[in-house]
Amino acid sequence: MSRPLPEPVINLINELRKLSGVGEKTAMRYVLNLMKRSPEGVRALGETLYRLAEDVKPCSVCGFVSDGDLCDFCSDPARDGHQICVVEGVAVVLALEKVGDFQGLYHVLGGAISALRGITPKKLRIGEIVQRVSDGDVREVILATGADAEGETTALYVRKMLEGLPVKVTRPATGIPMGSSIEFLDAVTLMRALRGRKEL
Ligand SMILES: [Zn+2]
Repeated sequence: MSRPLPEPVINLINELRKLSGVGEKTAMRYVLNLMKRSPEGVRALGETLYRLAEDVKPCSVCGFVSDGDLCDFCSDPARDGHQICVVEGVAVVLALEKVGDFQGLYHVLGGAISALRGITPKKLRIGEIVQRVSDGDVREVILATGADAEGETTALYVRKMLEGLPVKVTRPATGIPMGSSIEFLDAVTLMRALRGRKEL
């Protein structure tokens, strides 16, 4: 019978496996790799992880990651506050910023409505976007949720919640292949999709 792995090793494998895309083999490879590091190196990684939990929080306005109350977008006076691009997650913001075409602000919902996964509208930052539009001088809300069924449902739901408010609601229509997640689109497709947005 093979000697079982020490508990700290098992624990770390289990923690790493909770990350999306990391299976048992990958987790094991990471752990073996970490064990080759100096104790100081591993401690530094632990400290970095600790700081991630302690210092990084969602921006109080838009939900993007921030190490202060406001994120870099919301605190940048050069960004156009008349336009808000609503996305499911942080990764989409990063993809859009890579393109660099959009100069407005963002609103991160934290997912998409999904009956299957038990994600109700209340679990998303939908009330917050309605509040932002009610409070501020927002002229256009771009609903850049995914082109899959959940993304479509979410876009229509947010559209409904914004009904009656003096704001144009658009959706990037052109070029987004059905069923695709916006964050995986290439830059050109993404730019075309955003430029070719239509009123919803
Ligand atoms: Zn923000």
